[in-house]
Amino acid sequence: MKRRNATNGVKKSTATIDVGANAGRSIAISGGGIGGLTAALAFARQGAKVTVHEQARAIAEVGAGLQITPNGARALAALGLAEALDQIGLRAAAVQPVDALTGHAIARFDLTRQTPPYRFLHRADLIGLLARACTDAGVRIALHARIADVTAGWFIRR
Ligand SMILES: Cc1cc2nc3c(=O)[nH]c(=O)nc-3n(C[C@H](O)[C@H](O)[C@H](O)COP(=O)(O)OP(=O)(O)OC[C@H]3O[C@@H](n4cnc5c(N)ncnc54)[C@H](O)[C@@H]3O)c2cc1C
Repeated sequence: MKRRNATNGVKKSTATIDVGANAGRSIAISGGGIGGLTAALAFARQGAKVTVHEQARAIAEVGAGLQITPNGARALAALGLAEALDQIGLRAAAVQPVDALTGHAIARFDLTRQTPPYRFLHRADLIGLLARACTDAGVRIALHARIADVTAGWFIRR
């Protein structure tokens, strides 16, 4: 079964998600960072029952600036986050490396013609967005849950 515009509180994707692919499966994910939360959301959008095991006591909305390239933006749009990404990100005009000694620009890479746009955003905002979308999609986030070992089909949690 195919569905357009998966929402769960975060609207309007032009992507198509195969909602039946993992329907009913129980999926455990180790780590609630960018990769873990994104994978969790993708599985949840396909109908899986997902638990994210994160070793920290909270999903820490911390970090530094990130560049989200058009291919990364496409992946997030496929998860229904295109509009939200527009709200938390800045559209890039250019990347301009500068000589550390003289302060003079060495080059200028125009980024205004990328589709979807090349964006800059704070990692904390992306983590917050993904965590909210996961929760809205029914993902369980288990905190203070460090995965110590993995064997076929099982996590050993400490
Ligand atoms: C300074 C810097 C700048 C960067 N800039 C960019 C950029 O501009 N654009 C870009 O696309 N990427 C950038 N990156 C890379 C990007 O941050 C990483 O690719 C991305 O965070 C990796 O996602 P991840 O989920 O694998 O790891 P993380 O986001 O680091 O998350 C890992 C999570 O797993 C948890 N964890 C670890 N071990 C366990 C365990 N045993 N049990 C349970 N939980 C566990 C951790 O607590 C953490 O929450 C940058 C990275 C750095 C350091």
